Amino acid sequence: MEFSAKIESIQPSATIELNSKAIELQNKGYEIVRLTAGEPDFDTPEPIINAAYQAMKEGKTKYTDNKGIKELRQKIAQYTNKKYSTNYKENNIIVTNGGKQSLFNALLLITNPGDEIIVNDPSWVSYDAQIRMVGGIPVHIKTTKENNYIPEEKELEKAITNKTKAIIINSPNNPTGAVYDKEFLSFISRFSIEHDLIIISDEVYDALVYDGNYTSMTNFEESRDRTILINSFSKTWSMTGWRLGYTIANEKIVTQLAKIQSHSTSNVNTPSQYAALKALETDNSYMVEEFKKRRDYLYDEFKKLGLTFNKPKGAFYYFIDISNYGLNDKEFCEKLLEYGLAVVPGSAFFCDGHIRLSFAASMDDLKKAVEILKKFLLDLE
Ligand code: PLP
Repeated sequence: MEFSAKIESIQPSATIELNSKAIELQNKGYEIVRLTAGEPDFDTPEPIINAAYQAMKEGKTKYTDNKGIKELRQKIAQYTNKKYSTNYKENNIIVTNGGKQSLFNALLLITNPGDEIIVNDPSWVSYDAQIRMVGGIPVHIKTTKENNYIPEEKELEKAITNKTKAIIINSPNNPTGAVYDKEFLSFISRFSIEHDLIIISDEVYDALVYDGNYTSMTNFEESRDRTILINSFSKTWSMTGWRLGYTIANEKIVTQLAKIQSHSTSNVNTPSQYAALKALETDNSYMVEEFKKRRDYLYDEFKKLGLTFNKPKGAFYYFIDISNYGLNDKEFCEKLLEYGLAVVPGSAFFCDGHIRLSFAASMDDLKKAVEILKKFLLDLE
């Protein structure tokens, strides 16, 4: 059977591939520490679960407004306005099936065949695939450890053609943990206006920042109208399985996004939306503190091991340069798995010679991981 060229051009996610291998080994009885996951290891807070349960018992189990219930859109607007001094209203919001759908629908909305969309590498696995799925062309820019994985202005300028439609930025960043500073975001704001670009700003980790202040792309009023903000409940409140995200943009964009959603998935499942209402008033600071503790523990241990990396400022990943060990990143990960530790090769994020290690795991597992790494690196010498 012949499948579409668009879909044939996409590879299955390498993150999931390695995770599956690790699970297979675990099922065979091997002890594997899995640091591949992109999800917090905390339980969803109890009041959020109760809110969904209560909603179901009250019969809130039917279709809702395709964009999401009004109370939730209002509350997301208030929550965002408070954080970022914006002035969004409910009509600027659409609730989606996770940040992933939010991103996909935004790309589907803006992309004509052959339109180019700038992505900064290392980049999250799904940007490239989603751009291809909607008929666009991903244009990859390299960022470097030396530059704190912040794209260089001259590289971005070089990437511009008369086909460039948009740029995707992601801060806090998966996989590098970089947090973009105000200065760079201000450049992106000017750059988008100068080249008439749409900015897709993926800020799903905005509530997991460990050092200093966080600046959102929406802070820049002059480019706010051309900014599509992607956010999610997944990481902030440990709600990955609830499939809850949202898009914030100007009303015209949201109306078009609603059209797409009305013909594809309709509203996000109704009990989840009521859970989301509760989540927005639930404190997640204990999770942030715990992640910070784990980050700091790993920082000291990795330094002792002589590893090369930047300290992550947000999200929950270490991105480590392993290019000096005589193995490519896939070989490195496969061999490390034989020692009982699963991590993701950097090539999954368009950056060979690195590994991504998630610290969304218990302290116990992180301690085991450090011991495994120590032994593995010694054996490699
Ligand atoms: N964006 C980034 C950078 C991510 O890492 C993820 C999840 O791993 C998402 C978006 C999407 O998350 P969700 O669809 O669970 O909201």
